[in-house]
Amino acid sequence: MHRAKAYVPIKKTFARLNPALTFAMPSILLELDGVSKEYNPGAGEKISILRNIELRVSKGAALAVVGPSGSGKSTLLNIIGTLDRPSSGRVLLDGRDLAQLDERDLAKVRNREIGFIFQAHHLLPQCTVLENVLVPTLVDRGTPTDEARARRLLERVGLGGRLDHRPGQISGGERQRVAVVRALINGPKLLLADEPTGALDRVSSQNLGELLLQLNAEEGVTLIVVTHALDLAKRMNRTYELRDGKLVEAL
Ligand code: ADP
Ligand code: MG
Repeated sequence: MHRAKAYVPIKKTFARLNPALTFAMPSILLELDGVSKEYNPGAGEKISILRNIELRVSKGAALAVVGPSGSGKSTLLNIIGTLDRPSSGRVLLDGRDLAQLDERDLAKVRNREIGFIFQAHHLLPQCTVLENVLVPTLVDRGTPTDEARARRLLERVGLGGRLDHRPGQISGGERQRVAVVRALINGPKLLLADEPTGALDRVSSQNLGELLLQLNAEEGVTLIVVTHALDLAKRMNRTYELRDGKLVEAL
């Protein structure tokens, strides 16, 4: 609480100096500042995957990252999602430098502020659709509010009639929609999707892309999608291409 109080006078001071600043400052959710990643496989060798990446993502934006296989897209997404660390440079989420957080705080950020969707759904086969969605809430012992939200979101993505089914009893497209709801259950600020439509047929793939964009708008969640599907990429606010370790905006 006292943190929030301390923030108000600072905000007011900024407003006096430059009224535009208070609006400009909170609108950036994610900032990458000279992010590089390299591997040293041995004997003086160095493989450079990401080179000095600069990126600013506004709150509520939807952006796509495309690029050839092996260009470092997953590496970039994992660094943004705190699953990996850069070799150098900074990642700021809501103004906090992620490298400054200890493992406990990092785990909290990962669980509450970031949602992940992968190409493979990673659902637990022995659990029902509803139970799978509730897994990320168990860290905080899950509440009836969580369950109500889970039911609402599952209904929203057209799975209201599948709550008690197990992953093996629903289609690939439906499983991926369960994974989307699971990623959103804790109300993250940032939704990271790594080739989420990669294992789906064309129609399911288009439906999932459409759904991600709708949820981006409805839930106000910032969306970063790594994809090979150019039609999906083109529908985002911005599309970036990763090539030779550099991130460039593709127009
Ligand atoms: P993409 O998702 O664009 O296909 P990745 O981010 O998965 O690419 O991988 C980028 C490159 O980094 C690949 O050439 C891969 O072999 C390499 N790479 C990934 N992880 C490691 C690692 N732990 N050690 C060495 N090289 C790695
Ligand atoms: Mg990848």
